Amino acid sequence: MVTVSTLGSHCSLQVLKGAKDEGLDTLLVCERRRISLYGRFPFIDRIVPVDAFSEILDGECSLILADTILIPHGTLVAQMDPADIESIKAPVFGNKHILRWESDRTLKERMMAEAGLPVPRAVDSPEQISGRVIVKRQGAAGGRGYFTAASPQEYHARREALIRDGTISADERLYIQEYIPGVLAYLQFFYSPLRDEVEFFGCDQRHESDIEGLARIPAHGQNPDDVPSFNVIGNSPLVLRESLLQDAYRMAEDFVDAARRLAHPGMNGPFCIEGVYDSGAQFSSFEFSARIVAGTNIYMEGSPYYTLLFGEPLSMGRRIAREIRNAHDTGRLQDVTT
Ligand code: AMP
Repeated sequence: MVTVSTLGSHCSLQVLKGAKDEGLDTLLVCERRRISLYGRFPFIDRIVPVDAFSEILDGECSLILADTILIPHGTLVAQMDPADIESIKAPVFGNKHILRWESDRTLKERMMAEAGLPVPRAVDSPEQISGRVIVKRQGAAGGRGYFTAASPQEYHARREALIRDGTISADERLYIQEYIPGVLAYLQFFYSPLRDEVEFFGCDQRHESDIEGLARIPAHGQNPDDVPSFNVIGNSPLVLRESLLQDAYRMAEDFVDAARRLAHPGMNGPFCIEGVYDSGAQFSSFEFSARIVAGTNIYMEGSPYYTLLFGEPLSMGRRIAREIRNAHDTGRLQDVTT
């Protein structure tokens, strides 16, 4: 039988529960300090303790993983650089090469342009800031250390404050983008290479600290020197107006086509297109994640849209496991892994 593995963090519980429900074996790579947490869950067949997740790259841990299919998630992308991820010896579900396109802002912009996604304008230098912008760090930093500014002066003051308190380093290259006010929406999809079909799974919103709390303070009570951060604390569900669904599918299909052209073998498995709907219900996309997002954790008993498609409670973790099982049963595991 196939063993599904992942790192103990992010969405690992959902992924391994889904694998167990599909009849697969499960393995968790777990930092020693968290074993007491993960030991509580009976659907985890084996726990491999490590001091750091980087141990998956070589030594005994990498040998153990070689007999499993590793499910990549946000912690892997945040903690390892793309070359290390590409050097993982275990078969990785989906496309490990496309994770480089998620981590690198220049590649990310290229992929989004190729997919024709409407992207907020990038601002090349702080001196060109005129309207409100959001300033971001490289990689999946989870929004920590992001800030907004409306002038070059504000940009420099806030950046220096973050360097002083050690959140960012003085040589860190920051990415500046037009700030779009509206309703944030994180659109979750799955592309099945076995069926050559895009599925819309669901949509979530992220609760980010401390921007969310600051927004509840009336303007006259806010301190202009505050540097609000966008650190994700949790997620909650969102359903879209039904009239927006067709466009969501179109964006995802265009994205899958673009990924096939730029990052062989393409956008296989779960992914997320992240953005904001403005007052005219037009979507601008500021990000994508080329793997399962933690926002799918809210639908462990199935999502509204998967109920429509599959007629059964299917989490994203279980959807992944089903793809693996189908690939295994039809001798096509090489089509769903890299
Ligand atoms: P990201 O790392 O790009 O996903 O951004 C983290 C958070 O910053 C998002 O979840 C949004 O709350 C916010 N954000 C990012 N880009 C924009 C934008 N262009 N306009 C408005 N809010 C944004």
